Parts: sequence; C-alpha cells; structure tokens
Amino acid sequence: MAQKCTDCGKELSFWSRLFPSDRKLCPGCKNARREKIKQYVSKLNEFGTDRYLTPQEERELAALQQSLGLSDEDLKEAKRTLANLRQLTKNFDLARYEEKLRQVGEDGYLEPEEEAELNTLKEELDLTDEEIAPTCGQLVRLKRLTAIKNGQLPVLAADILLKKGELCHFEVSCDLVEERSRTRYIGGSQGVSFRIAKGVYYRVGGFKGERVVDTYKQVTDSGTLYITNKRVVFAGTKKNVTYPLHKIVNFIKYQDAVQFQKENEARPKYFLVKEQDSIDEIGLILARLVS
Ligand SMILES: [Zn+2]
Repeated sequence: MAQKCTDCGKELSFWSRLFPSDRKLCPGCKNARREKIKQYVSKLNEFGTDRYLTPQEERELAALQQSLGLSDEDLKEAKRTLANLRQLTKNFDLARYEEKLRQVGEDGYLEPEEEAELNTLKEELDLTDEEIAPTCGQLVRLKRLTAIKNGQLPVLAADILLKKGELCHFEVSCDLVEERSRTRYIGGSQGVSFRIAKGVYYRVGGFKGERVVDTYKQVTDSGTLYITNKRVVFAGTKKNVTYPLHKIVNFIKYQDAVQFQKENEARPKYFLVKEQDSIDEIGLILARLVS
C-alpha cells in the first residue's frame, strides 16, 4: 500500500516508509518544516535575549506557531527553551514583588493603600497565591504589627491560667537568662605545707586573700513568654516569673532578647527570644497596653 506525504500528498519513497514517525513527510516537506522550526527558534531567541518574556511576546510566539502550522511535537526542543525562559521571567517577577513588599514594609507596617498596591502588582504580574507563599510570613507579620499599632491586639487561647477579665495577647517560646555571681578569692593560699623547723611558725588554716565577686549571665530555664492585658508571664520548666504591667518601669530590647525592668528588682532577667520578629511585636503590644 502506497503511503503519502501528510503535507503535500506526494507518494513516499520506500526508504522514508521504513522509518516510522508521527508525521510522514517527503524530503522536500521535511526541509520546509525544518526551516519553519528554525524561524520559530530564532524568534524565541530574539525574545529571550533579555531573559524576560513579556505577555506580548508570548502572544506573538503563539501566533507564529499557528501561522507556521507547527505542532508542539515539532517544537519539542524549542518548548524546553520556552519553559526555561518562562521560569526566568517568573523569577524576575517574583523578585519584583518581593522588592515591593520590602519597600512597603520598611517602616514595619502595611497600610491599606500599600496592601492595595501590592495586590495590584500581584495581578499585573499574574502571580498566584502559591507562588508568593514564601513571602506570606512577612506579609502576615506586617499585617499583625499594623493591627497592633492601630490598637487591635490579637487575643490568643493561652495555656496558662488566666484571671477573670484577663486576655492573652502574645506568646513566644524563649529562654530565661539570669545573672549569676561567683565568689572567689585572689592572692590567697590554702593547704600550704610549712616545713616544721626551728624558728618557723606554723600558721593554722589557709589565707583567703581578697574577695572578688564575678557576675555572669546564664540560661537558667526555657519556657514560654506570655503578655496579657494584666501582666507579662514567663512560664518555664523550672520556674515562673511574673511582671504585673503596672510595675514595669522599663522595657529594653536587645538584638535577640528582651528585658522587663520592675522597681526594686535585685537581679535583672533577660528573655532570649528565638523568633527574631517577635521582639518588635512584644515592644508594640507592651506600649499599647501600658498607654
Ligand atoms: Zn511533501
């Protein structure tokens, strides 16, 4: 049975029939197709020189494929390049979105108009929720800080016993760091043996020397720090520490820790906060509660 070229209808030679492929083409049509593929690839490379594919370029490529009558199978290799270019484009768009988020969040807050700007950009760039998921933590944080700033404190179901009318607004896991002191003596000697000889007095006991007190800081417990509308509570595995809000005279924030100073506190306590972002939130909530 004679087989025909699917493009021009010419009868195929014995040899071309031996090699089965999706499409049976005569040598002339095969060449013509190859030229068309080249044309498509050259357009694709032209669009790809800036490593970014605009929606307009996407449309032009689709139209070109159509007008050249090329199948996806014909463009198998070109489509891999296209997929690559789309990925580069997506990465660039995501970086733009992240930069915008960084910009609007620079002051720590996300105002409604800033949020609208972000959403507009997301739509413009055709980004899905899934694609921007890695930035969600930052977004949520900004929204939370903004809400606190505007006086809307979150209310959590805390696993500490709350008093009547007490609301828990914050919790974070942390380590308790306390100042410790160690007393030592310098210049002293103990248990020194004396040669018992004529003319040498034996002195009983060691000589203690000068008393020196070293203070140092040490992690003494780990647990959870809670802020309620009445107090700051640290619930640790070994001990609890409470600061009634009205007794806190100062709040000090360090790079990785916070300190609540109350009147007549003998030894300062520090709370090492593992989630860096929480430190700002603690300060904001406290400021809100005591004002
Ligand atoms: Zn043909």
